[in-house]
Amino acid sequence: MSTSTAVANKTAVITGSNSGIGLGVARELAKAGANVVLNSFTDREEDHALAAEIAKEFGVKATYVAADMSKAEDCRRLITDAGACDILINNAGIQHVAPIDEFPTAKWDAIIAINLSSAFHTTAAALPGMRAAGWGRIINIASAHGLTASPYKSAYVAAKHGIVGMTKTVALETAEEPITANAICPGYVLTPLVEAQIPDTMKEYDMSREDVIKNVMLKRQPSKEFATVEQLGGTAVFLASDAAAQITGTTISVDGGWTAL
Ligand code: NAD
Repeated sequence: MSTSTAVANKTAVITGSNSGIGLGVARELAKAGANVVLNSFTDREEDHALAAEIAKEFGVKATYVAADMSKAEDCRRLITDAGACDILINNAGIQHVAPIDEFPTAKWDAIIAINLSSAFHTTAAALPGMRAAGWGRIINIASAHGLTASPYKSAYVAAKHGIVGMTKTVALETAEEPITANAICPGYVLTPLVEAQIPDTMKEYDMSREDVIKNVMLKRQPSKEFATVEQLGGTAVFLASDAAAQITGTTISVDGGWTAL
């Protein structure tokens, strides 16, 4: 059985999917035949156009729902507005880097809300529908920082460890049902989120862009290569497949060996 059999004609809701990993995952799921619901809070013309492009390219249904993942009611409304949610990809995330004693409280609150609490709300809202349909996949985009820490990323590391813990709990609560919950833990992927960290790091270490990429970012990634959004998407397609039906409550690292160190 091909890995994508279970994915075809299912509806996947991907939070934070107008760029980066979320968009990559949405495209790979659509390529495997899933209908996709894109999301961000921006609600621009180009966000809706992205959905239309995916529908055209892969011959699936693709829509865009604006919802702010920092707000509990928006997270729950996203699932209602999606119309169906067989595959839930909790991906929306932001980053802020500062020593803990200088870390702005508002940034801490926003990171915990968007990177962690949103997944609580969407999961709670999506589970009844998955139970009614008799099938479901919950895939949380955590991070290597869900398994290890780095200085100056207290909120991000706390949120990502939190989402790994929540994934295990959801897996236990659904263990006897045809529903799985897993987390993907990427190492560095060159997305807008990572691009935005490069100028500050260049200043902080007085380094060139190339040196920051090689000697700071990829220092902990033994492969010395960024993971790609297509690789993350392929991992999500696998976790949604029949082959992965007994994989639940675990993490899959896509980190070039980072967490093997
Ligand atoms: P990105 O900045 O390209 O994408 C983030 C997405 O989240 C965007 O689509 C953005 O619109 C959305 N988003 C942000 N705030 C939102 C809000 N309030 N409501 C709705 N959507 C919102 O970043 P990315 O690198 O693709 O990150 C995606 C996920 O992958 C994040 O959870 C991030 O922590 C995780 N991750 C990224 C890396 C990496 O190296 N890029 C590594 C490990 C984990």
